[in-house]
Amino acid sequence: MKNSFPNSFVHIQLGSISRNIQKIKERVKGRKVLAVVKCDAYRHGAVQVSKQIENVVDWLAVATVDEGIELRMGGIKKPILVFGVPAYDNAAAYITHNLTATISHVSHFSILMDGTSYHLNFDTGMGRLGFSPSQRREVRELAVVNQRLLCRGIYSHYATADDPGSAFAGEQQSRFKAVISDFSEIPLVHMSNTGASTNYPEFDHFHMIRTGLGMLGYNSGHTRHNWLEPALTWKSTAVQVRPIEKGNVVSYSSTWSCPEDGYLATIPVGYGDGVPRSLSNKLKVLIGDKLYPQVGNVTMDYFMVYLGADKIPVGSEVTLLGDKAWNAYDWAEKGGTNVHEILTNITPRVAKKYTQE
Ligand SMILES: *Cc1c(COP(=O)(O)O)cnc(C)c1O
Repeated sequence: MKNSFPNSFVHIQLGSISRNIQKIKERVKGRKVLAVVKCDAYRHGAVQVSKQIENVVDWLAVATVDEGIELRMGGIKKPILVFGVPAYDNAAAYITHNLTATISHVSHFSILMDGTSYHLNFDTGMGRLGFSPSQRREVRELAVVNQRLLCRGIYSHYATADDPGSAFAGEQQSRFKAVISDFSEIPLVHMSNTGASTNYPEFDHFHMIRTGLGMLGYNSGHTRHNWLEPALTWKSTAVQVRPIEKGNVVSYSSTWSCPEDGYLATIPVGYGDGVPRSLSNKLKVLIGDKLYPQVGNVTMDYFMVYLGADKIPVGSEVTLLGDKAWNAYDWAEKGGTNVHEILTNITPRVAKKYTQE
């Protein structure tokens, strides 16, 4: 999307992404790091983020072949793992663009083309993709027979590591250890996501951890780690400011009525940009050094803010998310979702600015 005259922008501080990776590395000493940059690096910009960290991580990963191609087109040279499922129509692209596939089903051994590198994915409890641990002998046979393909790694994925103290996460780890005992010649074993790396220091993190959210400055789940620095701040400006009288109602369905004569600001950002409608009448935004309540239902292109007696100038800067305003944990908590969804909700209509600090 062209963003010549954006109504809002996210400011991404690339330096904080580097520092977050450094801190995560310290927590999992000696382990390699795979940076997960799927979904446009959770909307932080996959190519820009990958360029920033390419020299301090060992691998990158994306969800789809298209996302992998975008990184190669952007000049990224690091190994790229595709988590998604290979298909006949994209099998050649793994070779052309030097992408590492994931084999998570028996059929994938015949779909991939000669010379394709791959990692095996075992489902130890996520219930999404991957071989069942009981298939491990059969999968081992297939890996040995298919010498035309190059097995470079083996992985699994935690379902409940986002918060500390999950017995099921421990159970998944045990199941994975049993699986890899049959694959001792595979050089790269990985399982931990951000949650497992930050919340479970006592776990075996094998050869490599995978982090998406953590490098962007948020822990997954409800446990806030203040040693991580959120990299993204979302800002806009007030496009109209006008008086509002006590008793006047605001926005679709008139869910809010004004408690006292005062001022109302209109901000040109809505759910079409990624402000969840479920945050209507809950969100607070920062103008100057004060938090003000968002009022009425969030609309597709605008939301309104009640200023009380403060008459701010049109064009005043409004911080929606990050910096001294609410962060993505607050948005997720009040919106009944997780930080991942809050960030990936930010749509391409929102412009991106990068600085090195
Ligand atoms: C998305 C994803 C990750 C990254 O999860 P974070 O919580 O952002 O660290 C890791 N591994 C797999 C397989 C994923 O799909």
